[in-house]
Amino acid sequence: MGFNGLTDGEAERLALLMEEMGEAQQAIGKILRHGYRSFDPTKRNGPSNRDALVRELGDVQAAMLLLFARRDVSADAVHERAHEKIGKVRKYMHHQDDKETCRPSEKAK
Ligand SMILES: [Mg+2]
Repeated sequence: MGFNGLTDGEAERLALLMEEMGEAQQAIGKILRHGYRSFDPTKRNGPSNRDALVRELGDVQAAMLLLFARRDVSADAVHERAHEKIGKVRKYMHHQDDKETCRPSEKAK
């Protein structure tokens, strides 16, 4: 156990989550600069920016599932916070035509 009180397993799971979040940020940056349908011209048959984002969001979700599985953080608490956030942020979003998409769903609970 290191200075921060983390086990090697806890540190490894956080490192994976941080790494995957960085990769997701990079994919989002490509989409903001070049669009969803664009792709890396240096890679033959490479994925579109949309496909790259799907992949990286899946990787982030996988890393989150590892934290949940080992009870590093509570999946229920994260889920609850996600609903709370949607409720708070929707009134500050300016370009969401369908307000229903920003409404917390009862079904998702
Ligand atoms: Mg990744």
